[in-house]
Amino acid sequence: MSRVSLKFHGAAGTVTGSCFELTGAGKTFLVDCGMFQGTRSLEKLNYEELPFDPKKIDAVFLTHAHLDHSGRLAYLYASGCKAPTYCTAPTADILKPLLQDAAKLQAAEVERRNRRADRMGLPPFVPLYGSQDINRLHKNIEAVNYCDELDLGHGISVRFWDARHIVGSASVEINIGGQRLLFSGDVGAGRAITCTAGEIGGYDHIICESTYGDRERELILIRDRREALACHVEQVICAGGNLLIPAFALERTQEILEDFDALFASRRLAPINVFLDSPLAQKVTNAVLRHRSSGIDFGKRPNIRFTQNTAESKKLNRMSGIVIIAGSGMCEGGRIRHHLIRNLPNRKSRLLLCGFQVAGTLGSVLRDGAKRVRISGVDVNVNAEVASLDGYSNHADRGGLVEWLAERTPVTGSIFLVHGEGQSLDGLSSAIEESGQFPATIIPELGEQWELQAAQPAMRLASGRADASELTASRDWTSKLAALRVEIEAKIQAQKNNQDREKLLAGLKRALEEAA
Ligand SMILES: [Zn+2]
Repeated sequence: MSRVSLKFHGAAGTVTGSCFELTGAGKTFLVDCGMFQGTRSLEKLNYEELPFDPKKIDAVFLTHAHLDHSGRLAYLYASGCKAPTYCTAPTADILKPLLQDAAKLQAAEVERRNRRADRMGLPPFVPLYGSQDINRLHKNIEAVNYCDELDLGHGISVRFWDARHIVGSASVEINIGGQRLLFSGDVGAGRAITCTAGEIGGYDHIICESTYGDRERELILIRDRREALACHVEQVICAGGNLLIPAFALERTQEILEDFDALFASRRLAPINVFLDSPLAQKVTNAVLRHRSSGIDFGKRPNIRFTQNTAESKKLNRMSGIVIIAGSGMCEGGRIRHHLIRNLPNRKSRLLLCGFQVAGTLGSVLRDGAKRVRISGVDVNVNAEVASLDGYSNHADRGGLVEWLAERTPVTGSIFLVHGEGQSLDGLSSAIEESGQFPATIIPELGEQWELQAAQPAMRLASGRADASELTASRDWTSKLAALRVEIEAKIQAQKNNQDREKLLAGLKRALEEAA
């Protein structure tokens, strides 16, 4: 029996950057290779070298296409990985446009960083990967069906189980070194398709996501969610403003479009114009519809429009009484930003958040009630209403996760809790403990390595990164600085005259000198 160990390179103490390195039976595997999103400190990790030797990876198992699970895969291949990546066919299909778009955003970000005056004389940043690396990844993708057993030799076998999170999403079961392990991936609500009764259940160790580990969400019926959406639309259109919906290109966009399609078909909503202003979401929508049995042809609804180019996108700036759906879902990039700059100062407009907002993102700052924000170098007053619409989540809540785990008992070793922020991890941990049917939980830190043994609690082999807790804090110093800058500017603007402004500046300068 060889030693089996697991190292947490991401989604440890945070929801993004999923990447787990599993070693055993003389082989090394990765489960996911995702991108970090959130505070600047966390995002900087995307530009660090991979914390393992990419050439020594024997295979990658990709749970699903979301970038926080897949975003660094092309970088893995750019760094010399030649191993196969196993995932379901829909995941492979959707991955390409997502990664191409991420590469484009990254190239723009690198250019912006290199233009900064304070980088004069420093070596330039270079993009981590380009389209040739995405092609290299795609040549190495091997599509697998749910439930099929993949025999990799050396006593290792792998199975992908439906995780009901998004189209193509999977939990990955790995049998290695005489142990049975399960990586949950992201788990959706509701019961998954089980292949053969009795095949699920009985694991040595489970690595479980915790995104909503501290929340019991009300079950919101699709009908109620659609009614709530219709009310938002009517109120905003009546007032003469625009409704902005930042949406993830994958799954959320398609769900929202389906809601609008149903509201128009049932005549609950008059046919107002809904624009999908995101080239990426358009490509992904087409890919998703290829894999859905109930594919709706949105092209048949004359008032659901896909903008074709930037000129058409800019035309939206001169329109009112419309709905604009655009990426990104947490307002961190994409066309939603220019719509936010134009619409947030307008009292008649409304921002409707329909998804999880990672701490530190612009979406989370707006949700928390910021009155002034900085978007792409522009200070923007927030007069528009900011609302959230629930009922779209593709994640199981606390009860759902405990139930998911219960269906997989007995678990004889440990349950690792990953892919969650502090409160969610703690909340799920207590719920698991209270249920009394599982072994102790472990909340690993970024960079920690654990030894896995059959039917035994895992043992820590190496501690995490020295800066792990700093990296996963919800607000790092850069976000605090940005907030302070906004506050100072607002206070200065609010003074009655220039004399008072000078006085305030002099006071701030004195305070700064004292503090330093
Ligand atoms: Zn996901």
